[in-house]
Amino acid sequence: MTTTQVSNDDIVKVFQVRKYDATDKAWNIEIRGMWDSVSCSCLMIETVGTLCSHIFAVMKAENIRTIPKCIILGRWTKNAKIRVCPHNINEKSNSPYMSIEAWLGSLHVACRNLQRLATNSSEAFEIAIADIHNLSLHMEAMTCDKEKEKLKGQLGKRSHV
Ligand SMILES: [Zn+2]
Repeated sequence: MTTTQVSNDDIVKVFQVRKYDATDKAWNIEIRGMWDSVSCSCLMIETVGTLCSHIFAVMKAENIRTIPKCIILGRWTKNAKIRVCPHNINEKSNSPYMSIEAWLGSLHVACRNLQRLATNSSEAFEIAIADIHNLSLHMEAMTCDKEKEKLKGQLGKRSHV
């Protein structure tokens, strides 16, 4: 790959990366500040979450020896934690369908992770299965409470029923 710097100011540096054999194909890489943020026109980092070869080519051309912090995604670090995004909760009132889809996605990922960990040993499996059972009971109790409240509300409104 060949790397050419196409523009350079104090805020943004733009590089163009081309393959040796395909002169028509080129990617633009924008670097803000001192590698405070970086983006590539192939959008691999945004979509797949991994670094593309074009950014590596620029890093090589710029003689960058350590991976800039801006391209280390949160989920690769020790600080990565499972957290509920408050944005999803706000979404519920506007678009319940989307929100449920997003919740299912999050649950699926969390369960896959749990499955992986819970099959490491029989001890892990037993803890997981007991806790899943408890959690299910808890969820059921929550659903029952909600149903009761609903019924109470309906009975209050429709006293003739
Ligand atoms: Zn790229």
